[in-house]
Amino acid sequence: SPVPLGSGVISLVNRLQDIFSRVGSQSAINLPQVAVVGSQSSGKSSVLEALVGRDFLPRGNEICTRRPLVLQLVRSSEPADEYGEFLHLPGKRFYDFSDIRREIQAETDREAGENKGVSDRQIRLKIVSPNVLDMTLVDLPAVTPANSDLANSDALQMAGVADPEGNRTIGVITKLDIMDRGTDARNLLQGKVIPLRLGYVGVVNRSQEDIQMNRSIKDALVAEEKFFRSRPVYNGLADSCGIPQLAKKLNQILAQHIKAVLPGLRAHISNNLVTVAKEHASYGEITESKAGQGALLLNILSKYCEAFSSMIEGKNEEMSTS
Ligand code: GDP
Ligand code: MG
Repeated sequence: SPVPLGSGVISLVNRLQDIFSRVGSQSAINLPQVAVVGSQSSGKSSVLEALVGRDFLPRGNEICTRRPLVLQLVRSSEPADEYGEFLHLPGKRFYDFSDIRREIQAETDREAGENKGVSDRQIRLKIVSPNVLDMTLVDLPAVTPANSDLANSDALQMAGVADPEGNRTIGVITKLDIMDRGTDARNLLQGKVIPLRLGYVGVVNRSQEDIQMNRSIKDALVAEEKFFRSRPVYNGLADSCGIPQLAKKLNQILAQHIKAVLPGLRAHISNNLVTVAKEHASYGEITESKAGQGALLLNILSKYCEAFSSMIEGKNEEMSTS
């Protein structure tokens, strides 16, 4: 598989975020997150699962996603290193992904009740895997009926409110496999129906039947590829077809964004460094352990500062997104 673009930058920012959150600094870094919006059962959770490449999200014909799920994907360089960890269960690693789904369901029930209640309290899940690109995804509940008319799409209306300029909105068209025959998906994907600055990607996820038959994501991705290859209507539209293309597009956008905010981040880190150094000096001999923590933090921050400096000044080409 191709080397993910800009992934080094994103994982560095992820690690920095972790450090800042441990130190208790809130303002630190706003790494963009990818949130999915759309009508109920339009295939949001299915798209996210396919991006991760593992089965672990509640999916189905009725409302399954009842709390926002913030999904931090962390790329691991170890081939065998693949697990999930919830913020509400720190230190507990889930190696079996069906256990992850059970925990999401149980945690949803704990907060939103066992019926069809919806809550806005997040569930936070980190997934470490060699097969993901670094990014943060948010799976959201939506409680409106499915609507196949793009012009009246809830998703586009919500996205329009959150992102009026359209700099952060990608259109994902699901269920191309069950589109009415004669409907021209080509026009949709080319933005001729409703134009979007960042364009559209068409995908084919697993159907409810596929899920019942335990069809794997891997098989589904192969089938998706075959689907697009075998239908003349998608000729020449390879850039806007398929889950891998969506992953690539998201990663490019994130890397571009981070590249743009890096100089500001560096200034922020330098300031923090000065503050920590002063604080460290003021501890003196009084609180040994605190001083030790300060020194350690100083050390860590210095290391990251160096990493950032070399990324910004020396090795800009590494972050090239073109
Ligand atoms: P969500 O409510 O938007 O998160 O939707 P889900 O991901 O839970 O999917 C709802 C239902 O639609 C499930 O039964 C999926 O199997 C099915 N589904 C999702 N995407 C596709 C697709 O591209 N093609 C087909 N045939 N079914 C899909
Ligand atoms: Mg869902």
